[in-house]
This record gives sequence, C-alpha cells and structure tokens, in this order.
Amino acid sequence: MYLEELTIPITKLQGIGPSLGKDLNRLGIHTIADLLLHLPRGYEDRSKLIPLISIFSQGGKGFVNTIACVEAHEYFWFGSQKTLKILIRDSTASAELVCYGRNFLARKYPPGIQARVAGIFTYQYKRIQSSTFELDDPNHPSEDFSSILPIYPLSGRLSQRILRKILRNGYSKYGRNLKDELPESFQTTHSLLPISEALRAIHFPKSLEEPDKGRRSLAFRELFSFQIEMIRRGLERKVAIRPPRKLPVTLRDQAIVRLPFSLTEDQRKSLIEIDLDIEGPSPMARLLQGDVGSGKTLVAFLAALRFAEGGIQTAFMAPTELLARQHAENAAKVLEPLGVRLAFYSGKIPLRNRKPLLQAVSRGEVDIIIGTHALFSEEVRFANLGFVVIDEQHRFGVDQRKKLAAKGIHPDILLMSATPIPRTLALSVFGDLEVSELKSLPPGRRPVETHLARIGNEEKVYAWVERELQKGHQAYFVYPLIEGDGDLKDAETMYQHLQSSIFPKFRVGLIHARLSEEEQRSTMEAFVKNQIQVLVATSIVEVGVDVPNATCMVIEHAERFGLSALHQLRGRVGRGNAQSYAFLVYDPNLTDLAKERLKVLKETTDGFRIAEEDLRLRGPGDMVGVRQSGLLDFSIAQLPQDMELMVEARKEALKVLAEDPGLLRPEHGGLRFILDLRFKDSGSGVAP
Ligand code: ADP
Ligand code: MG
Repeated sequence: MYLEELTIPITKLQGIGPSLGKDLNRLGIHTIADLLLHLPRGYEDRSKLIPLISIFSQGGKGFVNTIACVEAHEYFWFGSQKTLKILIRDSTASAELVCYGRNFLARKYPPGIQARVAGIFTYQYKRIQSSTFELDDPNHPSEDFSSILPIYPLSGRLSQRILRKILRNGYSKYGRNLKDELPESFQTTHSLLPISEALRAIHFPKSLEEPDKGRRSLAFRELFSFQIEMIRRGLERKVAIRPPRKLPVTLRDQAIVRLPFSLTEDQRKSLIEIDLDIEGPSPMARLLQGDVGSGKTLVAFLAALRFAEGGIQTAFMAPTELLARQHAENAAKVLEPLGVRLAFYSGKIPLRNRKPLLQAVSRGEVDIIIGTHALFSEEVRFANLGFVVIDEQHRFGVDQRKKLAAKGIHPDILLMSATPIPRTLALSVFGDLEVSELKSLPPGRRPVETHLARIGNEEKVYAWVERELQKGHQAYFVYPLIEGDGDLKDAETMYQHLQSSIFPKFRVGLIHARLSEEEQRSTMEAFVKNQIQVLVATSIVEVGVDVPNATCMVIEHAERFGLSALHQLRGRVGRGNAQSYAFLVYDPNLTDLAKERLKVLKETTDGFRIAEEDLRLRGPGDMVGVRQSGLLDFSIAQLPQDMELMVEARKEALKVLAEDPGLLRPEHGGLRFILDLRFKDSGSGVAP
C-alpha cells in the first residue's frame, strides 16, 4: 500500500474510541496517514542514564533518567485532595515525586522497590522534585526508558505515552510495509530513505541524527510533487490552444510617441515579452515585477492598447478603490486622447449609474474597464474579455483571479507586483507563470535618502521634517498599530501628539483601516491637495496614491515591518523632483540581526536586492508576496531551511517530466498527500 492510500479513519485503529478520536482530530489527525505524518516537535534522549545530581549542572531544572530506590511514602493535602509523595534516592541524590491524581502509584511502588524514573526535575525549597515524572519497573525497562523518545504536539487528554503507543500500533500495522513510489535509483541519487524507513527514523529513531534524515526524505517528496504540479499547470495552460491572432499596433505606437519621455530599456523588453505572449498560441500568464514607480502600469496600458485596437476588452483590477481611481485617471490621460473608451467600476458606483455602465460593457462599448474586486462580481459581463491585468497581484487570492479570468475565454493574464520576489524563488513558487522584470527606474529620479534613528532620538527627525514642511513639502508618519497597548507608539496617539505638540502650525491627518472608506478617501484627497501636510497612517499607505509633493516618510518602530514592506512604504516618497527622505525609527533594544536588516534599506534602493536580503534573513515564508499566495504551506517541508531542497526538487521534476510526460496526470491535483505520483514500471528512463 502507498501512504496516500492510508485514508483509513484513525478510529479504525485498535483502542481508539470516539473520545480519543476527537483529541486526535483536534491535532489534525483524521486518518492513519495523518497519524504517520504527525511529526514530533523534539526528542528526548533516554538511551543514556542521567542521574538526579545532574540537574545542578543543568541550572536547577532539567531532564533526569535514572534508576532509583523508593525510600518512603508521604501524604499531604492539596486543596481537599490527599496527595501521595514518593521519596526516592539514586546513587547521587534523593528526590520527591509528587503524585497529583496518581495516588494509585503507592501500590505498585512500595518502599524498598527499585524503579526506573524519568522526567523533568526542579530544585526548589532545598529539594529535588518532579510532578511530571514517569515510572517503570527497572527489570523490564520499556522502550520508553531506553530509547530516543519523540515529543509530540498534544491536545486534550492525550499524553506522550498514549500518542507514542498509538503511533507504535499504527506504524507496525500500516507504516512498516508501505510501498515506495520513488524508484530506488532516485532514492540513492538524492540520499533519500525509503518511505517506511523515513517514518521509522522520525518516530522511532536509533540516533539523534536519524529524524532529520527521515524528515528530509519526506520533505523532498513533498516538494518534488509540488514542483511536478506547478510545472503541470504551466504546461496545461500552454496546451490551451486558441486561434492565432494578429493585433494591431498603430495606437500603441502613437501612444509611445505622445509620451513626454521615452520608455526604459526594461519597459521595452517587457513589452516585447508581452507581445510574444499576445501573438503566441496559448494564453499569457505573466508576472510583471518592479519597484513602485518603475513604470509597470504604463506597460500594462500600452499592452491593453493593442487589445483595444483589435476590438478586445481589457479588465484592469486594483486592490483598493483609491488605487483603482488613480489608475483610471492616469489611463484617461494616456489613452483617452487616442479614442479608447474607458470606464471605472467599483462597489461605490451608485446604482443608477451602474446599470448603463454595465450595459455598455456587456455590449462591447467599453474597451478598458478599470476597477476594484467588484469587477469579478456576477453582474459584470463582458462582450469580449481578452486581457486581464491585476495590480498588486498578491493582494488577491488565486480564486479571485480565476473568477475574473473566467469572464473571458482563456484571456491573457498579466499580474503586476511591486513586491519583487527573487527570480529563483519566483520560478519555484509561481512555476506556472512567466516573469518579466523592470529593474531600473525611469531616469532622472533621485533615490530616496534613508536614515536610521533610535527611538529617543526622534526629535532630530521631527526637526528635519519640520524644515521640509516649511519649504512647502509634505510628510507621512507610519506606525505599526492603529491603537496602542502602551508599549508601542500607535497611529491614533501619535496623530494627537504630532498635531498638538510637534507640528501645531501644520494640518495633520489620520488614515487607517478602521475609519470608514469615505473618511479615508476624503483624508487622502485632502493630502493630495495639500490641505493636509502631515499624514499619519498605518501600513495602509503601502499600496497607494501618488503625492509627488511628499518628501518625507517617517516609519516608527520600523523593526516591526518586513524589509519589503518598508521598501514599499519608502516608495511613497521620491516621486517628484525634490530630494526625498525616509527615516526608519527603531526600538533601541534591537537584535543585531534586526539592525542588519534595517541597514540593508539604508544601503540600497534596489527592490530586488532587498527581496533577496529579506529572503536570506527571514525566509520566503515572511515575504509578503509569497505568504499571501498561501502556496508555501507545506506539511513537512519548511522554508527557508528547505529552499535548497526545493531547487533540487524542481530540477529533478523538470528532468523526470522531460523523460516521462505521462506523469502529468491532471487527477493528481492535490498537495494533501506527499506521495502524489506513481512511477511507471517501465518505459521511463527514471523508473527501474
Ligand atoms: P508602477 O506602476 O510601476 O508603480 P507607474 O507606471 O505608475 O509605475 O509609473 C510611475 C510614474 O512614472 C508615472 O507617473 C509614469 O507616468 C512615470 N513613468 C513611467 N515610465 C516612465 C519612463 N520611462 N520615464 C519617465 N517616467 C515614466
Ligand atoms: Mg503601481
């Protein structure tokens, strides 16, 4: 039997009734396979004796594993419970076993008898004590006293002992003889244990090194199967053949000529890549990455122009109302003079305007519709949707993207992200997407000057900001919290403070997610119009509007934000001609690692490098784009530790698929089970 076939309910295992079953369910264990994949959180080495006296060298508290003699019994009152205390002595010291709820031990361990004792002991009130000990007969030491014991996550009334017993049963009945789907040669190449051996190494290790080897063997299988799935999806898209088409480029050429600047090298290159997709036989699925302000939106508009001229509709979706509006306004400037019919759509559009607008869209009288997630609601129907652009793609779930795409027939999809993901990772994570990158900013931009300051020295920062305000510029102040708990500075308190004590001569505004959208919009508008000079905010401004007059970005408790998020926030300034500044104000009790992270931002403004650093220092799990994609929630593998394994798995998956495309079976969709693949017995160069 294969591991994936062990869908037998856990209650079928001997000795597991409904109540124990429930406790197991709470740990996510429903089937035998779940049980076998329930990984220990650590191990206790009971293969060696550790005498009582050793707890002094363990700092007064530590693990003991010894053979002791029972010297006497005592009782004391614990509330209204008469409670047993067993006094013991080994060859090094004496100790007390406090038997809360375990008075029955008196009968099995009378004075004079020898016992195996293990557990965490503490030295307090001049005694060595334990209440979480385990006892056994030294003449028949059970495995619990002579081996390396796994420590599992628990729930309910489960104890380590019970869970270990259940695992022993489960493993010997089902796990021991599991068949392996990976051929032996494959296992040798990648130093993998066979599946049954990997499970044994994890649950019943013979040395402290074994569990890691077992875990790595399972993780590789999981990542390998993930990669196969990603590659399969990419190929599936490529075989969704559509009729070849030639879209005109006249309008686009006109638009480019009309621009007051010339395209950057990277913009040109991305457009060529997009053009190849448009003309190709299968739908585009491209991720366009680049820092805020690198000109992604313009690239998307220029791509949409070809569709518009060819009579095909574009849907352009942004994550917030504000951003969608701004895109619509920019589109109006660039596209409307060319006769392109634009529309803006969001949930805010009044009902009476909505109907005619939607009608126009469904009749094909609108070429490009720009809006929020309202675009994928049911009432929006297209005459001929062929191009879908999604800004800040990580803010939308995969399902939402699919919903929008389903409004057309295999539309081309362009995803945009200002939270760059390093290419190696992007390929591994979004293996089904092609990637284009805008690495350079348009010429003439002055990089934002970044300064670090400790909390306590922020007066200097405030003074600097004041000078900028005097010059007629504006500033953002960003805080990690809306409302404080006293430990951290928060947006609401600082809004009051900045207005009344620091910048009384200027107008300060406040914006955060708990204010109504109307309030947010009017505050933002006031900031755009310079009626407000200082905007206090949470990371809500991370994705947001363009205010070229703002030259200062102050982020307090910068240590609370991820590097990519900080970089995004910094991208809010430096959008005009004046020199701009970012101030990262940090808590002085910072670890060296945290300080190193912040220094990266001071040193570079290259979003791709920052992403690499973020990846190196914190791992991809923390990177906004990756985390929100929800793609990296593996059950065994862990990133970043297993990043190299992931790359290895991808290489192998590509190789295997090239040799045996038969593995691309669509029914293997899930990542639920790690063994998702069945190797063919013959015909493949990989199988034995
Ligand atoms: P992104 O979507 O990557 O944040 P945008 O496309 O919104 O960037 O561009 C930011 C600003 O830079 C816009 O005002 C845009 O008109 C301008 N811009 C775009 N491309 C160039 C370029 N090649 N040269 C100069 N300015 C540009
Ligand atoms: Mg943008």
